[in-house]
Amino acid sequence: MEELVQRIKEDGRVLGEGVLKVDSFVTHQVDPNLMEAIGYRFAEVFADAGITKVVTIEASGIAPALFAAKKLEVPMIFARKAKSLTMDEELLTASVYSFTKQVTSQISISRKFLSSDDKVLIIDDFLANGQAAKGLVELCQQAGATVDGIGIVIEKSFQDGRALLEEMGMRVISLARIDSLKNGEVEFLEGDA
Ligand code: 5GP
Repeated sequence: MEELVQRIKEDGRVLGEGVLKVDSFVTHQVDPNLMEAIGYRFAEVFADAGITKVVTIEASGIAPALFAAKKLEVPMIFARKAKSLTMDEELLTASVYSFTKQVTSQISISRKFLSSDDKVLIIDDFLANGQAAKGLVELCQQAGATVDGIGIVIEKSFQDGRALLEEMGMRVISLARIDSLKNGEVEFLEGDA
């Protein structure tokens, strides 16, 4: 997605350890117009898939997922990273190792929001080693829901996430694919959409 690639070139910052900082438009301050364009692009790609729910994980997946859900005219569900006192129903849960925070946490969604009738589009901001997306797939599978595909805003293609998800039989659509972050430079591969 050219608009996203341009924005990463202009405002992304490479941190050591293969991390890209995009806090001025995705992960802290959020650009609503860009998020709308991203969400709508995912909706276009999955328009004929019969998606019934968009599932993401808090916090930075919420903005693109919400716009995709709006366009697809379905609800958006975000998995929570911390259990809230108000989550008093039965929960679907999975363990996720966080690439950026380097801790394992439990993610959860109330069982009542997903069922075996659902066809899910999973969306997340980054794909690194694939643990967050894998955790979301597991939550959907626990509910008996079908995952039709995974939409990623920024894929770091030099990490193993895509391979892991494709081995699970998942279709992965990434709008920006990064080949390398070496020497402080962002090198891109052709994106999927
Ligand atoms: P994974 O589970 O695929 O290893 O990592 C995905 C999660 O880690 C994303 O939800 C994102 O929050 C975070 N993440 C991974 N790599 C980066 C990165 O380079 N920059 C930022 N800002 N977040 C990242």
